[in-house]
Amino acid sequence: MMFIRLLRLSLPTITALAVGVGSLAAQEWKSGIEWQEPPLVTPGATDDAPPSDAVVLFDGTNMDAWSGGDKWLIEDGVAIPRETAITTKQNFGDMQLHLEWSAPTEIRGDGQGRGNSGCYLMGFYEVQILDSFENPTYFDGQAGSIYKQTAPLANAMRKPGEWNYYDIIFNAPQFKSNGDVLKPGYVTLIQNGVLMLNHFEMEGPTSFVEAPHYQPHAETGPISLQFHNDPVKFRNIWVREIKPAVGRRVSAPFNLQVKKETEEPKKEEQKKSETKDDKKAETPAEDAKPAEEKKDDK
Ligand code: MG
Repeated sequence: MMFIRLLRLSLPTITALAVGVGSLAAQEWKSGIEWQEPPLVTPGATDDAPPSDAVVLFDGTNMDAWSGGDKWLIEDGVAIPRETAITTKQNFGDMQLHLEWSAPTEIRGDGQGRGNSGCYLMGFYEVQILDSFENPTYFDGQAGSIYKQTAPLANAMRKPGEWNYYDIIFNAPQFKSNGDVLKPGYVTLIQNGVLMLNHFEMEGPTSFVEAPHYQPHAETGPISLQFHNDPVKFRNIWVREIKPAVGRRVSAPFNLQVKKETEEPKKEEQKKSETKDDKKAETPAEDAKPAEEKKDDK
C-alpha cells in the first residue's frame, strides 16, 4: 500500500522526501547557466531623472539630439512643437524610453484636434500623445493607444497643464532575410504609474490610411515626435538601450546537495540574550544597526 502511494508522488517529491528524512541534507535546484554580472547602473536622483547609462535626448536646454529640433521652441526648460516633426539623430532598437509631456492649457478643438502629438518608435510605430482629459475620441486614438491598432488599458490622463510621463518598453520587430516577420514588435507603456499597454504585439507601422502591415526595415531606427499643430509641451526625455542579460550554459540543470541549516535555533537564542544585554535595543531597527553605531551608543 505504501509502495502504491509512493508511485503517485512525482520523482522530485520522492527525492526531496528521501533527502529530508533521516539526514540533514537538503537540495537546491541550479540552472546550470553561468550569468555575467549585471552592469552597475546608477539611478537618477529621482525616478524621472536619467540613469547613468541613459542617452539624454532633452534635458531642458537644447534640441541638439534631434533633426529638426532647431525649429521647436524651447521655453522655461520645455520644448514645444513648431513647424515640423523632429527625429533623433541616433537610432535605437530595443529600448526603454522616458518622456514627459503636458497638454495645452488653452483648450482648442476636440477629439484628435486637441493636444495631439505622438511618439514614433523607430520612426514607424506611434504611441499616441493626445489630450485625453475629458476629450472623447475613438479609443484606439486616445492617449496611450498604439494609433489605430489598440486602445490603451486605461485613461490615466492628468489635466491640461499638468505633467504626464510615459515609460515605454519597446522590443523592435525582427525580420528574416526574405523579409518575412521573424518576431513582431512589442510595446509596454506605463503612463503616470498606470499600465496602458501590456507587451502589445504590433501589427505593423502606424498608418492613417491603410491597415498596418509589416515591411522589413533596419534593426534600429530613430525616435520621432509628431508635429500636429498643437502646443504640447515636452521635457525630460531619455532612452536606454535594452541589452539582454548574458549567460552561458555550462551544464544541464542539476540538483545541489546542501547541508540543512542547523544553526538557526542557536542564532535565535543568541539574539535573545543580546536583546537582554542591550537594554537600549527596543526595536528591531535599533537591533539591526551596524556594530560601529552600537559602539557609539555606549
Ligand atoms: Mg498623434
